[in-house]
Amino acid sequence: MFDNDAFDAHEKVLHVHDRDSGLKAIIAIHSTVMGPSAGGCRLWSYESAHEALTDALKLSKGMSYKNALAGLNLGGGKSVILGPVPDDARERLLLAFGECVEMLAGRYITAEDVGIGPADMQIMAKRTGYVSGLSPEDGVGGDPSPFTAYGIRRGIEAVAHQVFERPDLDGLRVAVQGLGGVGGNLCRELSELGAELMVADIGQDNVDRICDTYHAEPLHHEEILLAETDILAPCALGGAVTEFVAENMRARAVAGGANNQLLTKRAGYILHERGIAYAPDYVINAGGIIAVATEYFRDRSLEEMMELIDAIHDRTVDILRRVEATGEPGFLIADQMARDVIAAKRQAA
Ligand code: NAD
Repeated sequence: MFDNDAFDAHEKVLHVHDRDSGLKAIIAIHSTVMGPSAGGCRLWSYESAHEALTDALKLSKGMSYKNALAGLNLGGGKSVILGPVPDDARERLLLAFGECVEMLAGRYITAEDVGIGPADMQIMAKRTGYVSGLSPEDGVGGDPSPFTAYGIRRGIEAVAHQVFERPDLDGLRVAVQGLGGVGGNLCRELSELGAELMVADIGQDNVDRICDTYHAEPLHHEEILLAETDILAPCALGGAVTEFVAENMRARAVAGGANNQLLTKRAGYILHERGIAYAPDYVINAGGIIAVATEYFRDRSLEEMMELIDAIHDRTVDILRRVEATGEPGFLIADQMARDVIAAKRQAA
């Protein structure tokens, strides 16, 4: 772990194996400076344990930055369960995972991510109270994806104003890669505002459903990243923007929901050199964690929660303006802004 390029002085990284259920999982706590660490649990079939660790390390660091910039009193953490998980073992395994979260005594709060839904959270909740994304009450809580999608829409509106000098999204072409919880809800948001959608998913059912509902144009999942479009919105897994994609893509902006969209820093520099605007992923996909935190702490009303999500618009504008003013790439500016927030809190403590 200490030799892993994604290791960033993480506070604690727990590797767990439960013999009875077959659970293999990694819980990475990047930082608890801002508060208890929080971030979703991902269930994915990785090529290797090394790949799973790298994912957990990167995602948990991203959560520290995301939570800090979103104005939450939460640190950064994330967990991954190594798949595949046979259907008949799923419940036992999720219970065992809940016990691991409980063992951390509140230093890590879990919720949904790729491969884990609200029904899974209900099972974990039988073993731990450090869980959110359970069921909605008064419009707050439950599946975070619709709130994530709303926040991304606000980020895309900011890009539309700043980059395309448009008052709204009417007629703006957006290519959405990945049509699950986040991508599917984002298509609904964008289509309501008159955007023209191109979509792709590795699951044909998802493509058919979205195309039928929102009159979107289907593209092959390998072609969508280079599509002739205004904005590319990666909403599948991380690493969509490779150096090749950054060099060859035709969109003028990248603004989507997936975590860790830039495969390498170099990919980020290439976008910047080509004048392609990038709305940093953890800035505009924070709507879900804001909803998760509100459900968990019950410390703000639905209106206050929506205000916090709406603030993604102005934060994105601020970052894009700083890019113009300084000539620095947006992803570095956002990282520095997040580190400043965390450093100030550390100093105050
Ligand atoms: P999901 O599992 O519901 O959806 C992911 C979709 O991507 C699936 O439909 C899958 O078939 C598709 N996909 C996978 N690989 C693909 C490829 N190569 N090309 C095209 N489609 C592909 O997951 P989700 O909850 O929608 O999360 C999507 C992304 O957003 C993830 O990176 C996640 O970490 C991030 N995110 C999610 C939330 C949330 O609230 N769920 C919040 C913040 C960030």
